[in-house]
Amino acid sequence: MKILGVNEYNIDSCISIGIHVQSGKGDAWKDIIKIEDRELDGDTVDKIALIAPDATISIIRDYYVAEKYTVKLDDHVIGLARCSNPNCITNKGEPVSPEFTVVCRKPTQLRCRYCDRILVDISNNLL
Ligand SMILES: [Zn+2]
Repeated sequence: MKILGVNEYNIDSCISIGIHVQSGKGDAWKDIIKIEDRELDGDTVDKIALIAPDATISIIRDYYVAEKYTVKLDDHVIGLARCSNPNCITNKGEPVSPEFTVVCRKPTQLRCRYCDRILVDISNNLL
């Protein structure tokens, strides 16, 4: 919800949240966020991929699934998260975008291109 930037004060359409919903594939479970009248831009989808690499996005138009895809985490992440090192050049007010290389995918870990600090707590460092 934080990535999507929606809360009860800034959205006029219906939001439904399902937690631990049976997915229809055996014993699998999933969580669901459904937001009406909203399509996601590329940066938002990339941020979702950082914290939920197996997430599926479904675009529903006129009651039918118009698009359905699994998010994809690229090998390089630019400008989506901040480095956790307060002394990193990307945190010093310089015109330098944070850049990371994905060093682990389960769980997701990123290495800063500038200071080599490994970023583990991604959800609390999203921009
Ligand atoms: Zn850094």
